[in-house]
Amino acid sequence: MDFEFSIEGDSEGYVQFECPYCESEFRLMAGEIQNEEEYYNEIFCPYCGLVDEMSNFYTREAIEYAKELAMNYMYDELNKAFGGMSKKMKKSKFIKMKWKPLKKINVQEIRTEDSAEEEFECASCNRHVKVLYCAGKSKVFCSYCGVDI
Ligand SMILES: [Zn+2]
Ligand SMILES: [Zn+2]
Repeated sequence: MDFEFSIEGDSEGYVQFECPYCESEFRLMAGEIQNEEEYYNEIFCPYCGLVDEMSNFYTREAIEYAKELAMNYMYDELNKAFGGMSKKMKKSKFIKMKWKPLKKINVQEIRTEDSAEEEFECASCNRHVKVLYCAGKSKVFCSYCGVDI
């Protein structure tokens, strides 16, 4: 089963990612990660430069959100299955079954708040990365092509 979910970007269209290695958070422009021409399967962490599958960079918040959607889907399927069963069983004198629809979890849309991260543009691919640029860190890697910006 594929679950589709969308995450709304900040006011400039950036969505949040989290590096699975250094746990740093960064942002990428939604329209640059995924558009009609291309889709990135692997991205680089702008802080440590490590490359991994895009799905490993989802934030904990996004993963929780996806899990809730999956749960709701399961509840729907269960409700359908048991709903049908209880209709059939009503006709039987011997078996009585009470059935209540399961309550769905309220799924809240994820919205990315604006933050103090700085925007960088890669000189070689012209894509954008938003990172928290600390004085201690002198290098920022492009999430798309991996060069340092
Ligand atoms: Zn990292
Ligand atoms: Zn680049």
